[in-house]
Amino acid sequence: MTMTQPSVSPVLDVVRLGKYFPVGGGLRSQQLRALHDASFSLAEREVIALVGESGSGKSTIARLLARLMPPSSGQILFKGRDVLKEEPTRASLAYRGQVQMIFQDPFGSLNPVHTIGYHLERPLLLHNKAPTPAILKEKVHALLKTVDLNPPAEVALKYPYQLSGGQRQRVAIARALAVDPSVILADEPISMLDVSIRMGVLNLMEKLKEERGISYLYITHDIASARYVADRTMVMYAGHIVEGAPSEELMQQPAHPYTKLLLSAVPDPNGSIRGDLPARSGAPKLINPPPGCPFADRCPSVMNTCREQMPGAVDVGSGHWVRCHLYAPGSVIAPSALYDRTVPASVEAGPL
Ligand code: SF4
Repeated sequence: MTMTQPSVSPVLDVVRLGKYFPVGGGLRSQQLRALHDASFSLAEREVIALVGESGSGKSTIARLLARLMPPSSGQILFKGRDVLKEEPTRASLAYRGQVQMIFQDPFGSLNPVHTIGYHLERPLLLHNKAPTPAILKEKVHALLKTVDLNPPAEVALKYPYQLSGGQRQRVAIARALAVDPSVILADEPISMLDVSIRMGVLNLMEKLKEERGISYLYITHDIASARYVADRTMVMYAGHIVEGAPSEELMQQPAHPYTKLLLSAVPDPNGSIRGDLPARSGAPKLINPPPGCPFADRCPSVMNTCREQMPGAVDVGSGHWVRCHLYAPGSVIAPSALYDRTVPASVEAGPL
């Protein structure tokens, strides 16, 4: 069996990224393992959804990619450049211009004492995108128009409290666009918005992808919205990416027991929740986690080997892979095939 390798030009390669936090101190010091060995590549104009429950590590990936904190291990390649090796000054500013983040909370991400115009002027000035006051004003108005906030001259003079939640999230998107990014990391961008305005924000993101060639990492706990916006979906559990596939394939043929559990909780079109997959409850152990599969304590299909060995990534065809001992170990794929799509997914023995 071979993984499908679409012809793509990667913008961002995430190579075996890990993040550990020390917990406690002195002789009782322990490690909270927030992220293990995360690998994937994001192509131009591609949308990848990262799905999982709170504490699964999806926001940690976004914060590492935004360089809001350093990783404990691994690499981040932007258009082939290892950004972690660059000095945290000018090169880092250039990277931040290319990789922007939209936060979950449109209320907290804008400063209530400044106008909307001020919020958009700041990145333009910081990244030298507006040489004169007239150009600055023109660019601010153009940004507001792009995100359908009209009339721009009036909106620019308003304060955040004068806008709705959806309008504030549009301002946050406009602020991210100010520096012409290649990648937007959207961390739960619609979860705090009213249901009635969520679709408008998602449609805006889709429009910007088409018009500006932007790639998105779309982080969500809502697997149903991932199906709507993402080309590919990856599922996270306890700091591990446990499954990845083209979104429609993942929704139709989920392989990992945790993905099946997530999908079984999505209401079907007639309003009921399937919930037909039995699973034990319980939070995963992130501090000094035991060996083996992190889902073992909740999994209805757990076997002895699951508690002893972390499964490797197994190719299940159609660009779909899964980390689970239920699938043939003979199809374990090369670690590099998860982030470098020019590498054939050759069979490799042992876990990643
Ligand atoms: Fe369940 Fe074992 Fe697969 Fe983990 S590896 S999801 S415990 S069957």
